[in-house]
Amino acid sequence: MGLLALGTALEWPDAKKKASQVREWGIEQLLANWRRARGKERDALLWGDEVEYLVVALDDAAKKSRLSLAQADILKSLARDEALWKSESGKGNKHAGHDGEEPPHFHPEFGRFMLEATPGEPWGIGFKDLLKVESNMKWRREVAKAHMAPNEVPITLTTFPRLGTKDDYIQPYYPPSGPALRSQFVPDEIANPHIRFPTLAANIRSRRGRKVELNVPVFHDTNTPRPFKDPTVNYDLHNWPEDDDVRNGAAKDDHVYMDAMAFGMGSCCLQITFQAKNMTEGRKLYDQLSPLGPILLALTAATPIYKGFLVDTDVRWNQIGNAVDDRTREELGEAPLKDDRWRIPKSRYASNSTYLSQDPRLRKEYFDPDLVVDESIKKRLMEGGMDELLATHFAHLFIRDPLVIFSEDLEELDLNKSDHFENLQSTNWQHMRFKPPPPDKDDIGWRVEFRSMEIQITDFENAAFSIFIVLITRAILSFDLNFYIPIQRTTENMETAHARDAVNDRKFWFRKDPFASRVPRSAQQSTNGSTFSSGTSSAINTPPPSPPLGPVETEFDLMTIDDIVNGCADGSFPGLIPLVESYLNSVNVDVETRCFLASYLDLIRKRANGTLWTGARWMREFVAKHPSYKQDSVVSEEITYDLVKAVEEMTIKEGKNGSVGWELLRGRKV
Ligand code: ADP
Ligand code: MG
Ligand code: MG
Ligand code: MG
Ligand code: MG
Ligand code: MG
Repeated sequence: MGLLALGTALEWPDAKKKASQVREWGIEQLLANWRRARGKERDALLWGDEVEYLVVALDDAAKKSRLSLAQADILKSLARDEALWKSESGKGNKHAGHDGEEPPHFHPEFGRFMLEATPGEPWGIGFKDLLKVESNMKWRREVAKAHMAPNEVPITLTTFPRLGTKDDYIQPYYPPSGPALRSQFVPDEIANPHIRFPTLAANIRSRRGRKVELNVPVFHDTNTPRPFKDPTVNYDLHNWPEDDDVRNGAAKDDHVYMDAMAFGMGSCCLQITFQAKNMTEGRKLYDQLSPLGPILLALTAATPIYKGFLVDTDVRWNQIGNAVDDRTREELGEAPLKDDRWRIPKSRYASNSTYLSQDPRLRKEYFDPDLVVDESIKKRLMEGGMDELLATHFAHLFIRDPLVIFSEDLEELDLNKSDHFENLQSTNWQHMRFKPPPPDKDDIGWRVEFRSMEIQITDFENAAFSIFIVLITRAILSFDLNFYIPIQRTTENMETAHARDAVNDRKFWFRKDPFASRVPRSAQQSTNGSTFSSGTSSAINTPPPSPPLGPVETEFDLMTIDDIVNGCADGSFPGLIPLVESYLNSVNVDVETRCFLASYLDLIRKRANGTLWTGARWMREFVAKHPSYKQDSVVSEEITYDLVKAVEEMTIKEGKNGSVGWELLRGRKV
């Protein structure tokens, strides 16, 4: 997460008064930048991953694991070392000695116990770069570790199992609660102290009119009480007006209740950003990767525990959505519209709701009929020359209010910057993000970010999923694949992906024929050759008109993840892995590279067919088998310590022995 400049951050009532100005200026910046960058061509096919870590402090004597709030110190130390590396070309330095690769970049995150690491420079299109990813990820972990206290480790669990309990689970310890989060479970000190973060949390809460509300269904084990009433909730607090929330029914029976942004934005994920050769290709990638979001969420499921309880869901996604849901009762449809402008069906952190590509295969039936757009913004963008599809996308993102506004930034509109645009863009956390080139960097092109995946315990897995998505984008572009389904089915799939063991037990909407390129008759005249070759003699070469398109419903079906990844037995869908294999067959890859890639593809294949477990499944089994577990859904401090130790050992072994991730993962299935 890039940090905006420091300044005077406006509290909510003042920020709200400036919201329209920020939106208007943001749209002018977008238009200026779009005009400048729309014709960018031949940008390199670069990509990059982002890996997020929890910093955990281990107390082996007391058998306790705690979140370390040392983010700022670690980042400072890392930055010093990076500067040194650059000045001495790496001689005798912790960063040095990794195949001449640039030192990794480390970034702050919302949680003061989190770190994010990206490669020192984006990866290139070549296959040899794919071979560097896993070892680079391991190196990043080593570098991070080298800047921590001896008992601290970076681990890649999505969430800390006992965040928000009454333990002393943070180091240093602070009791709840504070003025920004007003949580009864976590202190404000849990969040990055940079003014942006507490302001973000406080303004979400103020705008919403109460605390955020996360109710995650508890996993009912044999000894779990029915109904389950979250025993950690205190109904008698009177420190803040928001302490009334639980007395007004915020905590639901049979659910684990949480009340602060940290429970969502304190989660770690794995994100991949692709640069396209031009805007057209970026828009195509955005659309074609979108239906894959929920599939990859289910495949990477790694979040079965919250606040010391096993829950009945496997992934983090909706918890983050609820943790930053700033919608008012009116916007949520709980009160008649009076002061607000519209009902809004989704949180600002949610699956995406637009398609962008000027692709003749994009049928009107695929669009979200409930899409809310700011019509005046759409009009302004179209007057400025933007086409309707792209204008609709941004006019949809801009239905939100900006949450963090620095008064210094409102003095003068600078069209050579993108700060006001990014204010809205970067707080619309959808599962795909379309990133325009930054106005001040000519070497960066149109990019698309794939954001749904959960972080994996080992870097073997993190590399495998990153590389899988990269290879899919290559197959999409090479074969001009068509994964379009109505976008509402993707929204539904996102919910489905939450179910316990969705990867094995649930079915997802997916398109059957990825090669379908028929366009409606009316569209054929106006297409410019993206499906049929066109040229000066197009009148002669015009292909025979295709038969009219069938009903949209016949194009897609409910499939298991095994069907989607490995192909349907009846041949109705070829499978993502076979598509990737065909792509690899169509290009020149040497045997060694192909073998290397095969081990990654094998992980995906076997996770999809149930041979290998997800991280969520592995953790559930770990807890279930723990000698002190009482079949009551409670994940105690002791179990958490042992779990974190097991995770740490797995990553250490992996780091020492090279690519042993495969063995470790095989070992998970007992
Ligand atoms: P954000 O947090 O806003 O999503 P980051 O800067 O943290 O963005 O990370 C984005 C990822 O994109 C990193 O892995 C980085 O290496 C990669 N990246 C940087 N520049 C480019 C580029 N021009 N094309 C593709 N990927 C890039
Ligand atoms: Mg991040
Ligand atoms: Mg980042
Ligand atoms: Mg970011
Ligand atoms: Mg990102
Ligand atoms: Mg199966």
